Amino acid sequence: MRAMVLKALTDMARNETPLELVELPVPEPGDGELLLEVSTCAVCHTELDEIEGRTPPRLPVIPGHQAIGRVAALGPGAARYRPGERVGVAWIHSACGHCESCRAGAENLCAQFKATGRDVDGGYAEYMTVREDFAYRIPAGFSDLQAAPLLCAGAIGYRSLRLCDLRNGQCLGLTGFGASAHLVLAMTRHRFPDSPIFVFARSERERAFARELGAAWAGDSTDNPPEALHRIIDTTPAWKPVVEALRNLRPGGRLVINAIRKEEADKDNLLRLDYPVHLWMEKEIKSVANVTRRDVAEFLQLAAEIPIRPQVQTFTLEQANQALAELKHGRIRGAKVLCIGTGTHSRGNTVASKRREP
Ligand SMILES: [Zn+2]
Ligand SMILES: [Zn+2]
Repeated sequence: MRAMVLKALTDMARNETPLELVELPVPEPGDGELLLEVSTCAVCHTELDEIEGRTPPRLPVIPGHQAIGRVAALGPGAARYRPGERVGVAWIHSACGHCESCRAGAENLCAQFKATGRDVDGGYAEYMTVREDFAYRIPAGFSDLQAAPLLCAGAIGYRSLRLCDLRNGQCLGLTGFGASAHLVLAMTRHRFPDSPIFVFARSERERAFARELGAAWAGDSTDNPPEALHRIIDTTPAWKPVVEALRNLRPGGRLVINAIRKEEADKDNLLRLDYPVHLWMEKEIKSVANVTRRDVAEFLQLAAEIPIRPQVQTFTLEQANQALAELKHGRIRGAKVLCIGTGTHSRGNTVASKRREP
């Protein structure tokens, strides 16, 4: 099978082709596993963190943790799915199942947590394996292209919103407006219709897009929103938006940081922290780590109900490096998806699905 493989960590600013196209044997499904013929796999910012070593992967590794495929073979004991069924694979590859975190429903915090495409091979390939109890049925309304980006950005966005503990009518801020934030905006409008949403984004284009999708206000991270906010979700890789967000929280407010790692470049902004302005009055900071199976499954149902139809930009498997480089340079308008399996190539190189107002 063809696969895009990461063999060594590298800096994408100097090396824009970190992945290599290689021919590998089709993997064998183990006990309780499925072999999937991969149809689509979405590209995620976390893959830049893997390639550049902020969340180091096993090497060599096939990246990709938002894959849609069809069951091609069943490993010994696998019985939940039939050959040909469509399933999705997300960031959580496995957890131990018996530690304190796992027993409390927090398998995302398990010390044995393994991530798809980082600790085990992922979906930048024609075939992959997945444990059947960590695979998801995909609601019928989604095409393979639309479903892939929901598996990470959507699921982690859903978890961020859960951790916000927002009540209908409270003000929500979003700092950064990438794939996950678009989806959080749609989810919030559906679940909390009376909650105004305030978007902080660097470019006017992103801000205009946010208003188009229903944000009550959009500005730069240093702008003052018209009112103080109850909850803010930060999806940026930087520190300055964190400091600005803390300033914009109202007393008792909570900042949820949805980022696997922060970049070091602007860390000196933390020295600007002024306790009474940024932290006093019982302000809270909470990070988001990984996802649970519950997050993925519940989000897929919610996405079907709203319905969410992500905007996608398609690439071939061989163009994975190009997709990653565009992500690195912040050229984001909709999710980047690799079309890998048969039947997806004929749709042309760029497909922008119609956005639906939530
Ligand atoms: Zn991801
Ligand atoms: Zn565990």
